[in-house]
Amino acid sequence: AKRSDDSGIAVIGLGRFGCHLATSLTRLDHEVLAIDRSAERVQRWSSQFDRVVQADATEEGALRQLGIADFRRAVVAIGASVEASVLTVLALVELGVPQIWARATSEKHAKILSSVGAHHVIFPEAETGERVAHLIVSRLLDFI
Ligand code: ATP
Repeated sequence: AKRSDDSGIAVIGLGRFGCHLATSLTRLDHEVLAIDRSAERVQRWSSQFDRVVQADATEEGALRQLGIADFRRAVVAIGASVEASVLTVLALVELGVPQIWARATSEKHAKILSSVGAHHVIFPEAETGERVAHLIVSRLLDFI
């Protein structure tokens, strides 16, 4: 199979984090394939990203049918369900996606994601909390 354009990125899970991520990637001129198992979420975001499809991302076959194996990058933005996020990463690993980014909600979750084969593990809430803490105590802001 031919690899899709380098700029294509699959975003799985259209919760608050996934939607903001997909919106920013779209603004940065990247082609986004957005996937969510909720028909309502897919409907709500259908006009915002290049392709928005309903699928259970834990199903390797479903991801294969969507052509995910041709993507160089995929982000698993599912947070609340550790099981769904881990099984989705596993499916992406099986499909050979070379750059898998996955969102973790705890240190243990992060360890599992890495051991299953995620290449980059991110902690959006922790990273934002840390950044905001630095902003709040930043001396630079004393002058504003
Ligand atoms: P956020 O904090 O980003 O709002 P959340 O933790 O509140 O996310 P989650 O339960 O992590 O919400 O779900 C994020 C999105 O992932 C939801 O829209 C949900 O429908 C979707 N999702 C969950 N499991 C799957 C799955 N197996 N396949 C596809 N999408 C899924």
